[in-house]
Amino acid sequence: MTQKERSTVSLDDAVVQELGSRLRGELIRPGDAGYEAARKLYNGMIDKRPALIARCVDVADVIATVTFASAQQLPLAIRGGGHSGPGLGSVDGGVVIDLVHMKGIHVDPVARTVRVAGGCTWGEVDHATHAFGLATPSGFVSSTGVGGLTLGGGIGYLARTYGLTIDNLLGVEMVLADGSVVSANADEHADLFWAVRGGGGNFGVVTSFLFQLHPISIVYGGPMFWPMEQASDLLHFWRDFILSAPEDINGWFAFVTVPPAPTFPEAFHLQKMCAIVWCYSGPLEQAEERFRPIRAFSPPAIDAAGPIPWPALQSIFDGLFPSGLQWYWKADFFRELSDSAIDLHIKYGAQLPTMQSTMHLYPINGAAQRVGKNETAFSFRDASFAEVIVGVDPDPANNERMIAWARDYWTALHPHSAGGGYVNMIMDEGEAMVKAAYGENYARLAQIKARYDPTNLFHINQNIKPGVR
Ligand SMILES: Cc1cc2nc3c(=O)[nH]c(=O)nc-3n(C[C@H](O)[C@H](O)[C@H](O)COP(=O)(O)OP(=O)(O)OC[C@H]3O[C@@H](n4cnc5c(N)ncnc54)[C@H](O)[C@@H]3O)c2cc1C
Repeated sequence: MTQKERSTVSLDDAVVQELGSRLRGELIRPGDAGYEAARKLYNGMIDKRPALIARCVDVADVIATVTFASAQQLPLAIRGGGHSGPGLGSVDGGVVIDLVHMKGIHVDPVARTVRVAGGCTWGEVDHATHAFGLATPSGFVSSTGVGGLTLGGGIGYLARTYGLTIDNLLGVEMVLADGSVVSANADEHADLFWAVRGGGGNFGVVTSFLFQLHPISIVYGGPMFWPMEQASDLLHFWRDFILSAPEDINGWFAFVTVPPAPTFPEAFHLQKMCAIVWCYSGPLEQAEERFRPIRAFSPPAIDAAGPIPWPALQSIFDGLFPSGLQWYWKADFFRELSDSAIDLHIKYGAQLPTMQSTMHLYPINGAAQRVGKNETAFSFRDASFAEVIVGVDPDPANNERMIAWARDYWTALHPHSAGGGYVNMIMDEGEAMVKAAYGENYARLAQIKARYDPTNLFHINQNIKPGVR
């Protein structure tokens, strides 16, 4: 199919104009001045050409667009922050509900909750809640969308302390496939609320989220770096430390290449190193003492951990990963990190194919593990680690090399895994991968899908097929 064919479905002008007249937000078509910019996704590897981009600004816009796509039998994608690796926030030849302009954040400092409109990013939420000395668990990069990250689970610095993002989700407001609007929470549409806590955008368009907040303001965190030669000792130390550490401390492990940036000593520029990125959220006056055994293990070659405002920690990697880079990632959960798995990590970690390519191991024990595996759709509650292997580079000429590295690395480690990966960190890898990600929760998700979206209108996602009701 040519590029032109991919975006030119035979849409009756009058029908499109009628949709445009019902929207308060902008309706963008191929050929419009803003089309090329509006269709761009975070992952520069993905090039999709939708037939219509509806920049919904309120719930009425979303209802109109869902109803339109359903009536016209057009494929429909939902775009939150646009950060999906496989570009699931857009669709060739179909309609995109683009929530980029659906903003609005209301903090209730007494109830310690925040209501967040469907198109916000985590940086925007952190900015709003930090004014009150409060935060909710999210991820590690502030430009990521609240929508996609939350609906897939949400793994971040506070996972050991307060659980996944979904463990702090109190309710959602959604537009369903039939255009109706519902609230889902512990008391209303409880089955739907169970499903959206991990089940992604399969069940409708979430127009607002309500989160629990926690007293998080200045934390003690940031990266520490050690030479590659210490990888084995460091991984063993980190594994044992993080599995038994108090829940107010988190540190994720990474293989990295030190960027040639003035923040890092020049001697280390472009060296492959091991890093642990910390976040301690307990009493600050105890921080130095809490980090003493870590620094005593072996003094880091670069030690950038210290007191830092929560929004600053959340955005520390933003500059390294701007929009438009080529991304390819593979993911798995692990119940344990065996000595032989560590040996494999060292082998592939030493082969990072490009400067921005990386491998992260996120701890998800502690508070995240206290939620039962059937209590939300996110099923790997017995896993202690989430692995993501990421090939990243500005130059598409390096894609083949970095994709091969990520696949080989993942294939070598997969036999040691719990059998599935995090839906938010896999590519478009087919039904078997989605089923593996949900494990025994898939059957219940398919039943709920059949109830709320029987025709699978919302299928541009890690798709759960409607099952038998
Ligand atoms: C640089 C970077 C850093 C990341 N860091 C983390 C991290 O620390 N922790 C973590 O858990 N994940 C992380 N992720 C993964 C991230 O959670 C996923 O990429 C997620 O899908 C991004 O959400 P989005 O809204 O930005 O993406 P989009 O591409 O807009 O959407 C992704 C999926 O979610 C659906 N969706 C989005 N918004 C809505 C909504 N309002 N209603 C219904 N469906 C919706 C879309 O339809 C699509 O299927 C990171 C990703 C990147 C690129």
